[in-house]
Order: sequence, then C-alpha cells, then structure tokens
Amino acid sequence: MTSNQLTDTYLHKGLRTKLVKELIEKGISDKNVLAALEKLPRHYFFNTAFAKFAYEDKAFPIAAGQTISQPYTVAFQSQLLELKKGEKVLEIGTGSGYQTCILMEMGAKIFSIERQKELFDKTKNLLSQIGYSPKMFYGDGYKGLESYAPFDKILVTAGAPFIPEPLKQQLKIGGRLIIPVGEGDTQEMILIERVSESEFRQTPHGMFRFVPLLAEKNK
Ligand code: SAH
Repeated sequence: MTSNQLTDTYLHKGLRTKLVKELIEKGISDKNVLAALEKLPRHYFFNTAFAKFAYEDKAFPIAAGQTISQPYTVAFQSQLLELKKGEKVLEIGTGSGYQTCILMEMGAKIFSIERQKELFDKTKNLLSQIGYSPKMFYGDGYKGLESYAPFDKILVTAGAPFIPEPLKQQLKIGGRLIIPVGEGDTQEMILIERVSESEFRQTPHGMFRFVPLLAEKNK
C-alpha cells in the first residue's frame, strides 16, 4: 500500500515559488496559470517516497505505466487554453489529476475522462481527499462526452495519432481545442479554434513528449 503525504509545508511552498520562477524564465506569462501552479501542492500527486521529485520541472511515472506531465507542459497547455472563469472544459487523460486541479484553481468547470480503471479510481479518491470534485468519467476520450457538449475548451493530455472528429464537433463556436499530435517519440502541440459551425483554424505550437492516447477504455 502506497500513500501520498497530504501536508503542505513552508519548504514545499518555497520549492513551488522556485519552480514558478523557472517557468517564467521558460516563457510562461499568464498570471492565472502561474498563481495556480504556485498554489497547488504538486507533491500531493506523488507517492511519499518520491515527493522530493515533485518540484523539478520534469514528468514523473505514476500508476498504470502513465506519467504526471511536466510542470512546463501543464503550464504551457493551460496558458494556450486562454481560460476564463466559469468556462466548461473537457479534459482527456485525467492521469494523476494534477492538470485537472490546476484548471479548477483557474476557475474552470471540469469534465475529465480517464481510460485506465486503476488510475481513475485512485485519482478520484485523491481529489476528493484534497477537496476537488470535478466531474470524472471512466471512458474513452476519443469519443469525447457527447451528452455534456458543447465545451468552451477541450484539452488532450496524451499524444494522439490524429485529431478525433468528435472532439472538434463538441467544441463551441469560438472554442479552443488543444491536442498533442504525433505517433513517434514526440508530438506537435496543435491548437484548433472553431471559427464557425464548419470552419476550424489550426496552428502548431512546438514539440512536446506525451504518453500515447490509446483507443477504448481498459478493463
Ligand atoms: N494530465 C495528466 C496527464 C497524464 S498522462 C497529469 O498531469 O497527470 C495521459 C493520461 O491519458 C494517462 O493517464 C492515460 O491513461 C490517459 N489516456 C490515454 N488514452 C486515453 C483515452 N483514449 N481516453 C482517456 N484517457 C486516456
């Protein structure tokens, strides 16, 4: 049985301030993003034995062969979303739940999908312990969430081989979909803006490294 240490100390806060400075140097400027990263204890999402790695700007293994995204990647994607308070956001790939909580700190109303049952259960439990209650779904992110659509923003946190059509269709007009696309070791961060019912504008935003977006939920 592993556990996470759910206490936040001045040491942790100091490490977060340092991490945030590092992210500013790397080009993150959105004040709401930086404030959320400074506030949310990232070590809550790590097993106690690995908590000392929580404030390095690196991805880290979590359960079920998955990773908690690198803080820079979380900050970059959150900034690219241009989130406003109260917006409805669909997140594909709950994973550790860290990105989920960052977006909630920024005032988003979150719907998050995870395909790994083990992770889904673990993260649901953790998030309720630390006081976050997003709408969480065990399912296949390729399909989106038809019954709750449309969304102001959609964020995919796993590398997709292509852009799933249902996600584009579940976006509001004026909405933004952010998705890392590519099948190799690295993926290109793509922003899709829905300009009208039938018109989408697509722009690239640099190369990143994600675990793959896999088809269908596991058992
Ligand atoms: N935002 C997360 C990133 C986790 S890694 C964090 O910071 O912790 C990506 C996650 O996407 C993994 O948990 C993986 O299981 C999940 N995933 C992969 N394919 C998926 C799919 N089709 N639907 C939903 N989740 C998926």
